[in-house]
Amino acid sequence: MKLHEFQSKQLFARYGIPIPRGKVATSPEEARAIAKELGKPVVVKAQVLVGGRGKAGGIRLARTPEEAEQIAEQILSMTLKGLPVRRVLVDEAAEIQAELYLGLTIDRARRRVVAMASSAGGVDIEEVARTTPEKIVRVIIEPELGLREYQARTLAAGIGLDRSLWASFTQIALGLYRCFEENDATLAEINPLAVVPGPALLALDGKVIIDDNALFRHPDLAAMRDEDEETPTEREARKYGISYVQLDGNIGCMVNGAGLAMATMDIIQLYGGRPANFLDIGGGASAERVAAAMRLILSDPNVKAVLINIFGGITRCDEVARGMLAAFEMVRPRVPVVVRLVGTNEAEGRAILQQAQGVALYTATTLVEAAQQAVRLAGDGHGSSAISGPEQRQ
Ligand code: GDP
Ligand code: MN
Repeated sequence: MKLHEFQSKQLFARYGIPIPRGKVATSPEEARAIAKELGKPVVVKAQVLVGGRGKAGGIRLARTPEEAEQIAEQILSMTLKGLPVRRVLVDEAAEIQAELYLGLTIDRARRRVVAMASSAGGVDIEEVARTTPEKIVRVIIEPELGLREYQARTLAAGIGLDRSLWASFTQIALGLYRCFEENDATLAEINPLAVVPGPALLALDGKVIIDDNALFRHPDLAAMRDEDEETPTEREARKYGISYVQLDGNIGCMVNGAGLAMATMDIIQLYGGRPANFLDIGGGASAERVAAAMRLILSDPNVKAVLINIFGGITRCDEVARGMLAAFEMVRPRVPVVVRLVGTNEAEGRAILQQAQGVALYTATTLVEAAQQAVRLAGDGHGSSAISGPEQRQ
């Protein structure tokens, strides 16, 4: 779950990271009042969960409260990368002498958190990473030790930061690490971390992503979720506890368990097909949940066949089969559906599926058989036709 800039900065402040004074406004009048209260020039910043707001015109300087009101009115009527701007952050403007980058993320290959810094912060950090990666300095963090002060100084020295700012930089880096760790973040980033007169450091922009799987430990953060910024599919999936990731293939997948879902996708590819999605239906397979999963899968127009691979353990196959029949009544699949149902009471489950009406349903016993059938039905790849085919039911 992504936090807005103003939410990220409020979180940073709790960890001793200096941020500009400022408040959120939902109307031009409010923006004017905030600017008046701050009594200084301000920056008016669109609060939408996309990057590159500056370049898109969503961040502008206002010298007077009147100007802040006008600019807020313009920004509040904008749509940035498809998302309407509903709120603006009105921050005291900073006099920027240099823009640094400081971020923490997970290096999955190393299985460690990595801290990164650059003297070339600001709006083009992705470009810096691509064209001059040597300008980004990294340190790898040992989980049992956390980010050490000497590592923060390694970053400060590596980006050529003036020595007078090392202590402050170190305090910010350690604060950011604590913020990252205590909140189960997968990303915590300050860009730009500005050098302002003093000299001093100030976090002018913040981006934090919280691991969805850890949100239950952070009800205060979970409450910050902005439902307006989710796509309809993301919202639907979350509501039913389904993990869904859309991909670009044409075989929809509905599987229980993330590992089995990945294995299913691998086998589809092994037989020359392409999965249209990753979908872990989670525990149990009630009719509502199967129907929701089917709606998600079918919302993708590329889907030409659906493969349902369910291992019935605690939830028995007969219950799952009944759930599927009820779900097919709620959401009628417009494409053929291959079902592989194994585990507890699988014979009963398959017998129940024989009763399905109005859906091109194929049952398979092995995963190989199911994958080949799905690939054949989706009309690409080289699904073998030599298997004794499960017959079609209408
Ligand atoms: P992003 O484009 O979505 O990453 O938004 P940022 O908050 O990073 O702002 C983009 C750019 O706007 C920054 O890199 C700065 O150059 C500029 N900016 C942001 N805040 C201020 C400010 O207080 N004063 C000045 N002069 N420029 C700012
Ligand atoms: Mn930024």
